[in-house]
Amino acid sequence: MSDFEQRLRSELEELKRQGLYRELREIESPQSTRIQFAGESLLNFSSNDYLGLANHPAVKAGAREALEQYGAGAGASRLICGSLAIFHKLEATIANFKQAEAALTFSTGYAAALGTIGALAGAGDILVLDRLAHACLVDAARLSGATLRVFRHNDLHDLERILKWSRRTSGKEGSKRVLVVTESVFSMDGDRAPLREIVELKEKYGAWLMLDEAHATGVHGPQGRGLAAEAGLADTIEVQMGTLGKALGAAGGYICGSRVLIELLINRARSVIFSTAPVPAAAGAALAALALVPTNLGDALRSTLRERVSQAAVISQPRGQSEARGDPLSAILPIMIGDERQAISLSAALRRAGFFIPAIRYPTVGRGRARLRLTVTAAHSEADIRVLSDSWRAIRQEITP
Ligand SMILES: *Cc1c(COP(=O)(O)O)cnc(C)c1O
Repeated sequence: MSDFEQRLRSELEELKRQGLYRELREIESPQSTRIQFAGESLLNFSSNDYLGLANHPAVKAGAREALEQYGAGAGASRLICGSLAIFHKLEATIANFKQAEAALTFSTGYAAALGTIGALAGAGDILVLDRLAHACLVDAARLSGATLRVFRHNDLHDLERILKWSRRTSGKEGSKRVLVVTESVFSMDGDRAPLREIVELKEKYGAWLMLDEAHATGVHGPQGRGLAAEAGLADTIEVQMGTLGKALGAAGGYICGSRVLIELLINRARSVIFSTAPVPAAAGAALAALALVPTNLGDALRSTLRERVSQAAVISQPRGQSEARGDPLSAILPIMIGDERQAISLSAALRRAGFFIPAIRYPTVGRGRARLRLTVTAAHSEADIRVLSDSWRAIRQEITP
């Protein structure tokens, strides 16, 4: 074996030893509540397709129509070969949905984070991130060259301590920028940020706020507009981010805010400037989803989702705790396990019983903080959740009697 192969092999062996090895699991069906995996049908409780739109007839039709009208590929970056009308229509629709002045789309949410944080902050500026902020926000912060400070998860005192420090240092050296970055619903814990207090703090210390609503868009707030809209804070948040790939069932990321923000991003966001525009079909799917999400049909899906979430909440409760912990805060219901290898063996036991629920481990979450990430969607039936609940009780009994 060559040195190259040998080194990579030993790195993989080490991951296996620590229970951190990952592999792609090929499924033969579309993304849905039932997936076909190695010839078997499994009930899927792992996706972020919270409203069941990824395989919805209207959303698929939107993709097909865009493909027919605008072709398979976009040809180049939007700044090079012309920007297809469907992207402009999508951006106007997102801006209208989020009640913002303007929006810009990216090929993914990940690319939106990279392009935007890099455009707004650089060497000498300060980025203040929640400890549990998504990897794309962390990567973007590192890549930007700005000074990175992390506050304890949802801890307002810690955030204020850092903002005080930021004001002192930025005051000394003139016009440094301070950008706070957090999420409204956290992707692996399913809890929410104290938005009102965070907005108060960033105003008090003259910082800006970027809010990632990846897991709230389409799901929470009036007509699915997100938690900033629900709290009436959207106008006070400088940079609002989201993805088209979760509840909206398509693919792509977006930023919305003021017209001048969007104008700056068109000039500075490297993930837009130096990357081929997404396929028109993705924009068509997102447009179809956005036509549905704010309607009565969207409200009905959100109401079904809330019912399924309440029904499933008991599954994620620690053992011995039968009292409900109050209404769950999102459709993400992590079952905390701790040990990485135990999480894997529970995930495997669930798969043998007919359920697909991934074990989430480091570096997605902290070491020793492994969990089963259970997500429910509006497309699940009451019976789906009931059979999971029954099987889970038996599996847990068996493994940790
Ligand atoms: C999934 C996710 C992203 C990335 O969005 P993609 O469209 O999947 O690239 C960004 N932020 C959070 C919080 C996410 O969960």
